[in-house]
Amino acid sequence: MLTTIRPHPYSQSNQIPNDLLTAISQLKKELNAVILAHYYQDPDIQDIADFLGDSLSLSQQAANTNADVIVFAGVHFMAETAKILNPNKLVLLPDLEAGCSLADSCPPNTFAQFKAQYPNCIVVSYINCTAAIKAMSDIICTSSNAVKIVEQLPKNRSIIFAPDRNLGKYVMKQTGRKLILWQGSCIVHETFAEKKIVQLKIKYPLAEIIAHPECETSVLRHANYIGSTTALLKYCQQSLSTEFIVATEPGIIHQMKKLAPMKHFIPAPAINNCACNECPYMRLNTLEKLYLAMKFKQPEITINESIRIAALGPIQKMLELSF
Ligand code: SF4
Repeated sequence: MLTTIRPHPYSQSNQIPNDLLTAISQLKKELNAVILAHYYQDPDIQDIADFLGDSLSLSQQAANTNADVIVFAGVHFMAETAKILNPNKLVLLPDLEAGCSLADSCPPNTFAQFKAQYPNCIVVSYINCTAAIKAMSDIICTSSNAVKIVEQLPKNRSIIFAPDRNLGKYVMKQTGRKLILWQGSCIVHETFAEKKIVQLKIKYPLAEIIAHPECETSVLRHANYIGSTTALLKYCQQSLSTEFIVATEPGIIHQMKKLAPMKHFIPAPAINNCACNECPYMRLNTLEKLYLAMKFKQPEITINESIRIAALGPIQKMLELSF
């Protein structure tokens, strides 16, 4: 039950200071810690982060930090990537159960069997996967650089793309290359309802629809602009439009409003009018859990060393090719 609010293993009401922001700031100094947060985190976490970004920029920050402790306000595969890049640093995730349905949709054993059917393929994996899948890949990509990376691969080689089938279809369309797709998906991005987005467009005829490529093709075909979370943020600032229907996790709207305060952002609705367009995994992290993680230096991310080494090369290749 990922949406259930559960106490942090060390949480007791008398351990949460009244002035949480000051306490976090003090712990940051004591630990020489850096707080990295994803755009899908709650606004209060976004506001205290040292660096806020999408998967690519957070990986770059993690690769270059001088901090001794990385507090990763995001989901498990993101913190794991930070640990792969920084084996000697302490990497903390406020809630260890902040997973990802997309990463879970690609179990390592089944993927190994799938990969064995195509022995000469290059394996490109979206960063939203476990360390074990990264270790079986040739190169990692994010939604910011997937098209550029696939374009640079030798034309005479076949490519497996995992785990997100929607991003894979989008990359196929943009590059004209045929990809062998693993059929994984994200519960959040598959929840946007084409019919409801069209109804919203009728209600707000001047609004531009902007969408993340993890959305289904049926939604993407209505989009005026498709891009990673960072690209969507830039686009809504630069566009002359003043209204946007936003088809990605609505946590990003906090930054959109900060960066373009005069503009109007409408979250794309989910199929059942539920809150399932919000990522339940990202929502497991709270400011209180973040404080407790720093105070008790756990939950800590650990990775088997042979998997870490195997996963490091494909991530480094991506960072080298991300310009
Ligand atoms: S929004 Fe989707 S892909 Fe992103 S962390 Fe949540 S479940 Fe995973």
